[in-house]
Amino acid sequence: MAEPIGAQERLDKIVRIIAANMVAEVCSVYVLRADGVLELYATEGLNSISVHRATLTVGRGLVGLIASEARPLNLPDAQSHPAFAYLPETGEEIYHSFLGVPILRAGRTLGVLVVQNRSYRNYTEEEIEALQTTAMVLAEMVAAGEIEDLAAPGADLDLNHPVHIKGAAFSEGIALGHVVLHEPRVVVTQLIAEDTEHELKRLDAAMAGLQLSVDDLLARGAAAGTGEHREILEAYRMFAQDRGWTRRLREAIENGLTAEAAVEKVQSDTRARMSRQTDPFLRDRLHDFEDLGNRLLRELIGRPHGPYAADMPEDAIIVARNMGAAELLDYDRDRVRGLVLEDAGPTSHVTIVAKALGIAAVGQTQDVVALAEAGDPIIVDGELGEVHLRPPADIETAYADRVRFRARKQEQYRKLKDEPAVTQDGVGVSLQMNAGLIMDLPRLEESGAAGIGLFRTELQFMISSAFPKQSEQQAFYAQVIEAAGDKPVIFRSLDVGGDKVLPYLRSQKEENPAMGWRAIRLGLDRPALLRTQLRSLLRASVGRELRLMFPMVTEVSEFERAKAILTREQAHLERHGHGVPTRVMLGAMLEVPALLWQLDELLSAVDFLSVGSNDLMQFMMASDRGNTRLAGRYDPLSPAFLRALRKVADKAKAYGKPVSVCGEISGKPLEAMALLGIGYRSLSMASAAIGPVKSMIRAMELAPLEARLKELVDQGSSASDVRTELRAWAAAHNIPV
Ligand code: PEP
Ligand code: MG
Repeated sequence: MAEPIGAQERLDKIVRIIAANMVAEVCSVYVLRADGVLELYATEGLNSISVHRATLTVGRGLVGLIASEARPLNLPDAQSHPAFAYLPETGEEIYHSFLGVPILRAGRTLGVLVVQNRSYRNYTEEEIEALQTTAMVLAEMVAAGEIEDLAAPGADLDLNHPVHIKGAAFSEGIALGHVVLHEPRVVVTQLIAEDTEHELKRLDAAMAGLQLSVDDLLARGAAAGTGEHREILEAYRMFAQDRGWTRRLREAIENGLTAEAAVEKVQSDTRARMSRQTDPFLRDRLHDFEDLGNRLLRELIGRPHGPYAADMPEDAIIVARNMGAAELLDYDRDRVRGLVLEDAGPTSHVTIVAKALGIAAVGQTQDVVALAEAGDPIIVDGELGEVHLRPPADIETAYADRVRFRARKQEQYRKLKDEPAVTQDGVGVSLQMNAGLIMDLPRLEESGAAGIGLFRTELQFMISSAFPKQSEQQAFYAQVIEAAGDKPVIFRSLDVGGDKVLPYLRSQKEENPAMGWRAIRLGLDRPALLRTQLRSLLRASVGRELRLMFPMVTEVSEFERAKAILTREQAHLERHGHGVPTRVMLGAMLEVPALLWQLDELLSAVDFLSVGSNDLMQFMMASDRGNTRLAGRYDPLSPAFLRALRKVADKAKAYGKPVSVCGEISGKPLEAMALLGIGYRSLSMASAAIGPVKSMIRAMELAPLEARLKELVDQGSSASDVRTELRAWAAAHNIPV
């Protein structure tokens, strides 16, 4: 048996074979290092002394140009090219013709492969193809870490280079773990076909399978996907039927490749052509194309859907371009620590589910799928919205400390679970949690919440693939009520429409969906829908109190009409001998600024009010809550917003009607402190926020805070002043915020 040979020897042998096969006097491999330098790793023909010595930065010289542009360069007279850079140690001045191709893998350049000849020759198309195919083999060698040991100490390969991606925080938490690619890349090992006809047949079969799977995804409403998801799938279908793609694949097979290698090659070519595109639309199409190519590869190797591998690490961080909520639920919950999404939105279903499951998630992370390799160490920072791929040791240590610190804090919060939320001067505050899915319910007990202050009923509808039937809705609500036991639950009627799309509910594209046909507007225009839900809620609450509120009320008359529908439903049930709730408490959400000037009428009509500060803020500030460019631009601690909220609290008190805040600001200790200071005594928030908010409350004295807030809000200080002043106040009074 032959001795196993070392990596350097193997590379040397490869360059020798290529040179011989291509009748070239020179063949060289340059590998891209983490510092952006291309280092000569092996050569046949150039001075061997220059191996691991000759280097070029990306963009410099012909090799640097190929790396930066990710496309081949074929030159009969290399030295006359303006980018030519002479490296004296190589002795290359005697060679004139030059053919170089990038070593590409999954859209990334890992190095450059070059052949050179003394004569002024033009390399043929076949020769370019052959060199590209060889580059694919080298790419796999590099990616598999086979040549890692050859790197000079401290000169890491680019493949291993740490990447820091700034995205958007989607779900709170910090997780350290290892990459699991939701759509794993397929490694092609068999490149050269033995039987071309057979490979063509395999391609046809895989293409047919691919089309079926895309059609199926579309038919299933993209597994409860969003409109955005659907558009992507439509694009897939377009590509899957693209004749040009099929033709290029067939040609590659006819030139001797296996079907898998043909897919890889065509993908590489497309990338090379399109990766220099700066147009975001075209770059998106490139992504679609990549995904589709990967799907086709999985069809070919008979593993169409394979993200749930048995060898999932214990600390899996799922990296996906986008995924449906149901797909996330398919993973083993005990192993998933974090989620990184390339282009799902902050209100997408998968994000909602990640939040409900307490999985740290970061979104809008450009290129993460192409940059990550399965098994790479990765950190998800769901607080700052950042991802560290292959983090350097010091970053990892810093994060490990933060995780330990958070765990200690969590432990402290757990201990507070059964302690009352009472201020130092004896004022009690009701802290409730927001929920919407069955998997939220255990948190009610764990967090010590006083009840559910906002149950978003639309979530059940959003993760279903068909409209939940009346009996299903009723069973679901009964389950929620049962799980809550003695604790009250405030259900919110369906807040769908606009940007909360149900795949099975026909919707028209709207210019401004957040201000569109949604929530109570849709409910009143389609009363059958609202009626079914109200009936389900009434029947699920037989013998107990039902608390229910309507979202996006703009005029008091809308509340009155919704109430009339409920009253009729209740009478109908009674007439037919069904049981009914002992009492129904009806409230409105205050999310539309117009209600601020109807508070007298509104408070006379409702049993309670709940301020939806997320929407109220976006409409008051004319600032899209989902737009990351605007995130943080306007501060809810601005006097303008606080004055509006204070007015609501004052009026509600005057009318003796309970009022609470159930938007995101309730769950942030500093903001929650401001809310208490302007008169709120009831807050509903994400379950994880209850501990931190409670520890703030227990540490503070309310009376002096009220006085301070009055000054700040009345003076009309700037928003950042209010924040700074409150922070200083908290620090001076030892209040953890
Ligand atoms: C809000 O608008 O503040 C609210 C709680 O409702 P949602 O976030 O579901 O729109
Ligand atoms: Mg809202």
